[in-house]
Amino acid sequence: MKLRGDYHMHSKYSGDSKNELEGIVLKAIELGLEEIAITDHGPAHTGYGIKKEDYPELRAQIDALNQKYPEIKILLGLEANILGLDGAIDLDEEMRQYNDWVNAGYHFGSRLSKDYKIHFINFMAKFSKVFHKKAVKINTKAMTAAMRRNKIHMITHPGAKGPVDMDEVAKVAAETGTMLEINNSHGHLSVAEIKIAMQYPVVFVVNSDAHQLDRIGSVEASLQRAKEAGLDFSRIYNVIVEA
Ligand SMILES: [Zn+2]
Ligand SMILES: [Zn+2]
Repeated sequence: MKLRGDYHMHSKYSGDSKNELEGIVLKAIELGLEEIAITDHGPAHTGYGIKKEDYPELRAQIDALNQKYPEIKILLGLEANILGLDGAIDLDEEMRQYNDWVNAGYHFGSRLSKDYKIHFINFMAKFSKVFHKKAVKINTKAMTAAMRRNKIHMITHPGAKGPVDMDEVAKVAAETGTMLEINNSHGHLSVAEIKIAMQYPVVFVVNSDAHQLDRIGSVEASLQRAKEAGLDFSRIYNVIVEA
């Protein structure tokens, strides 16, 4: 079994990583990856989001690195934030012109001025059953609307940072051709969530979500959970199952 690519990692353009772009590329080549997507936090991420005006510069740098290192394909991605409840994400048309790969996920504290009620409900969900139920309802609504409204390659760590109805999320993921991530750094998809999602024709993807260079390509925990759930590895987008 071999990892073909890693489609979720952060660079210094996210406030919570110091990774230089060339360092990322060299590490990925060392690991024998064929393809990577550099997916910094969307601009609405509180504190750590990419500056929208940096995106064209990031495109130019990635183009130059693709020229310099033809042995690997480097995609310019984004880990967009799911905003509000109507399916909006913080990847606008202008940024989309530069983008090759779209990840989207819910992040606590994004677009705080408008979405503070959503974050409050998700915060309270840890302590109260009533709020938990409410959180599942709104998070599922937002996530499924985002998949229907936007072309998204994959949902990052579904179920982390806010509970969802996995049955509904998986159904819409299958319908819209959106992959669901088994994230190595966060515990989601969990074993129980994979078991639910695999009942639908969903494609899965395992990713490091590396914020540090030495984490790139690390998907052991993801694969362990997939194995525990009994998932057929041929359903994982970026794993090559050798006969
Ligand atoms: Zn994330
Ligand atoms: Zn991430």
